[in-house]
Amino acid sequence: MSEETRRGRARGNKKAKLRLNPNGDIITLENVSKSYSTGAPALNGVDLHIKKGEFVFIIGDSGSGKSTMIKLLLRELTATKGKVTVMGENLSKLRRRKVPKYRRSLGIVFQDFRLLKDRNVYENVAFAQRIIQTPIKEIKRNVPAVLSVVGLAGKYKALPRELSGGEQQRVAIARALINRPAILLADEPTGNLDPDTTWEIMKLLEKINENGTTILMVTHNREIVDTMKKRVVTMKKGVIISDEERGGYSYEY
Ligand code: ADP
Ligand code: MG
Repeated sequence: MSEETRRGRARGNKKAKLRLNPNGDIITLENVSKSYSTGAPALNGVDLHIKKGEFVFIIGDSGSGKSTMIKLLLRELTATKGKVTVMGENLSKLRRRKVPKYRRSLGIVFQDFRLLKDRNVYENVAFAQRIIQTPIKEIKRNVPAVLSVVGLAGKYKALPRELSGGEQQRVAIARALINRPAILLADEPTGNLDPDTTWEIMKLLEKINENGTTILMVTHNREIVDTMKKRVVTMKKGVIISDEERGGYSYEY
């Protein structure tokens, strides 16, 4: 048995039991403000409650605070005021040494894919399991399984530059999912994709959500927001100006 396998077994790689916030949400923002050193607050008194299993679009003009919200949830930033609670963790009180583990409990997808350029598809996805010391035997089982979920089973040897944008985003989604996060955060994941590919990615995200993953997705794409009839939170200048259960883009614009 390899050292890596042994360590992984010793630590145990069972999926952690999902914790919710005291109020039963999976994500709660209470009167949250975030100011950078310059300019008006990027977020100003935001309240947002998200239940396990929801699919939520965050929309709004450029500069309205969407990415700042995602960064607070990732604990890349902390709130200047108010309270952010995710899966029972008060992020303002989360110890610095616990941040990496917290972050790894989330799935994260960005507009620009952020793959390791010199590693193939298999390695890009396996990497997320290696850093939590998953036994190699499990990695060998899990990576092909998640690649088939995203429709890339045959491409495991390809390098990112050999893939289309949509395929690269599928790899990023596979990497985000492999550790079975309860929450997937996506900041404009279709921003670099053509319309057909955008729809393929949205169908994939919808399937992932139907399997129980809570999804929070920032987007500018009117058509997907209008068509998918999910919850839509609209931001403007750091505040939430509408929060519609089965909303659309047209509401505000
Ligand atoms: P969005 O993602 O909706 O376009 P952001 O959250 O990126 O908006 O930005 C919200 C506001 O905060 C903008 O006015 C932006 O200029 C400002 N901002 C974002 N990041 C920083 C930063 N690192 N330093 C200073 N101001 C920032
Ligand atoms: Mg942004």
